[in-house]
Amino acid sequence: MKVIIIRYSEIHLKGNNREFFESALVNNIKSVLKDFQYDFSRSNARYVIRNFDETYLEEIIDAVKNVFGVHSLSVAEEVNTDYALISMAALEFAPQCGTFKVSTNRADKRFPMPSMKVSAEVGGDILQHNPDLKVDLFNPEHTVYIDIRENGKTFVYSETIKAVNGMPVGTGGKGIVMLSGGIDSPVAAYMMAKRGMSLRAVHFHSFPYTSMQAKQKVLDLAKIVKKYTLRMTVDVVSFTEIQTAIHEKCPEEYMITIMRRFMMRIAERIAKNHGAGAVITGESLGQVASQTLESITSTNSVATIPVFRPLIGFDKDEIIEISQRIGAFETSILPYEDCCTIFLPKRPVTKPRLAQVEKVESALDVETLVENALSNIETIVID
Ligand code: ATP
Ligand code: MG
Repeated sequence: MKVIIIRYSEIHLKGNNREFFESALVNNIKSVLKDFQYDFSRSNARYVIRNFDETYLEEIIDAVKNVFGVHSLSVAEEVNTDYALISMAALEFAPQCGTFKVSTNRADKRFPMPSMKVSAEVGGDILQHNPDLKVDLFNPEHTVYIDIRENGKTFVYSETIKAVNGMPVGTGGKGIVMLSGGIDSPVAAYMMAKRGMSLRAVHFHSFPYTSMQAKQKVLDLAKIVKKYTLRMTVDVVSFTEIQTAIHEKCPEEYMITIMRRFMMRIAERIAKNHGAGAVITGESLGQVASQTLESITSTNSVATIPVFRPLIGFDKDEIIEISQRIGAFETSILPYEDCCTIFLPKRPVTKPRLAQVEKVESALDVETLVENALSNIETIVID
């Protein structure tokens, strides 16, 4: 019978942690497989999927290999522990050409042959069927694995498919990601989900200055991110009143700096309302005027909870590479405008001094503006 073996990395599993880690991982695997029929079981630090429709093999593997916490997968043949059956299955996995070896692990010591002998005999059977193959014990191009389990069953397989690794989503606390329509913030969300964080998103839009397509683009990105975060809700906050107020009352070179401070305050309030302990942004040091150390200091100073910036040390090239890998890039580069690009000052301050920013900002009724924005949220659950 064809089965899928799912392995996870065990390094985090100490004491009580294990159950927490595993139950999150199992839930997450089951949630990405909710449209499939299969049996799921646990056996010795791995999971096994049986009795699935083999026409969906690729889909199942693609879904599971993107679940954080999964280390690798193998498609195996499961046979009763009997030499003839094991050897037959091994032939199925033997390569057509090149060098190979057989590697046996015998957990079931009742099986009479020691593992070295199983490897040697099965290797001999394979050679007999295909004399062009060569055995290479030290640096083979292919390895056929035989795993003799304690339950009277044996797995035979040859390929190990690398999965995403990381920590299961749900084991790393909860955060609010500030999701724009750009390249960086979806990647930032991915990075934090990879460390096990559950995420909710906030997006600021400035209707009617920004279009409905611009908002839809963000929702499309949220849907892509959801592949990794598994759940995703976006709070769409209308930013028009705040932007208009800043535009009217503050010198234009401070527009971006002060906007950022409002976004941060609102994101933090949303975090607190939803029991989240961190805010995540896609900032990368020095990328643009609003991402100098001074600008980040001015934004950061309104936050009272941790702000994670997982891309802070990344070059744009590196961010784009991840963006492409996670399937977000094509959507991110669609041309719709962001709320930050309207009212853009010709010459933004690149090194705002905090005292000056606070003075400029004092022309505004910050609390009322924040309250108004919070009472005007459109919450969208991504399915
Ligand atoms: P991105 O590619 O993520 O848009 P960026 O390079 O355009 O980033 P900025 O526009 O300076 O950089 O934004 C920095 C960060 O601020 C973004 O990564 C995002 O986390 C947040 N942000 C910016 N605009 C918005 C918005 N309209 N809604 C929510 N968050 C935003
Ligand atoms: Mg942007």
